[in-house]
Amino acid sequence: MRLIDTHTHLDFPDFDADRDEVLARSRALGVQRMVVLGVYQANWQRLWRLVEANEGLFAALGLHPVYLDDHQPQHLAELRDWLGKLAGHGKLCAIGEFGLDYYLAELDRERQQELFEAQLELAVAFELPVLLHVRRAHAATIATLKRFRPTHGGIIHAFAGSYEEAREYIKLGFRLGLGGAATWPQANRLRKVVAQLPLESIVLETDAPDMAPAMHPNQRNSPEYLTDICAELAALRGVTPEELATASSRNADELFGWK
Ligand SMILES: [Zn+2]
Repeated sequence: MRLIDTHTHLDFPDFDADRDEVLARSRALGVQRMVVLGVYQANWQRLWRLVEANEGLFAALGLHPVYLDDHQPQHLAELRDWLGKLAGHGKLCAIGEFGLDYYLAELDRERQQELFEAQLELAVAFELPVLLHVRRAHAATIATLKRFRPTHGGIIHAFAGSYEEAREYIKLGFRLGLGGAATWPQANRLRKVVAQLPLESIVLETDAPDMAPAMHPNQRNSPEYLTDICAELAALRGVTPEELATASSRNADELFGWK
């Protein structure tokens, strides 16, 4: 089985003690590629060093809305410089993580919107997919995407919206990132949506170290759990784990332009 973890934070200190072992175990289970996402300027260098040193790791760089107070105006210019410097580099696969978070009330929505739009402009300019964090902000995100129309699409990470919202994203060339959240039996509404989504729109992710799946509760999440997540979501959809692994990996390959 070949799997792709489209959303990880493997650069986080949570993995400092045993990162190499985690990567080895994940690869042994078939998780051949893992995307590591930047969240603020201060982690880009460390993240890039990590993906350059490890086969199967790929980078996305971005300014995450949850870290709004850490972002300085010059960080956008620095992001543009990084993207310019790395243009065409095989290890750079997207811009992210960025987006809109309306769940946390203290995050100024106007400033979030400015950062969101500036990074969508970069995606259009550098012809890269976008990896988006969207919490309680699907309507605003969809309206903004309709104005910017990023040509290479992207992923709505940890998708937990409605079927109708999923359809809007799919029309805009986006895939839905599914992971631990949908493995919890109490996530009834989300599980119904996941069962209905077209197979061509699904990519898998862990969001490690966050969003532990139901079969590994209260633990540090890890790409090595992606096989369990795949098996659970496949059962939910009435297909074999191999079928879901093959389809979701093909979808990710297409999105990132991987052969
Ligand atoms: Zn993330």
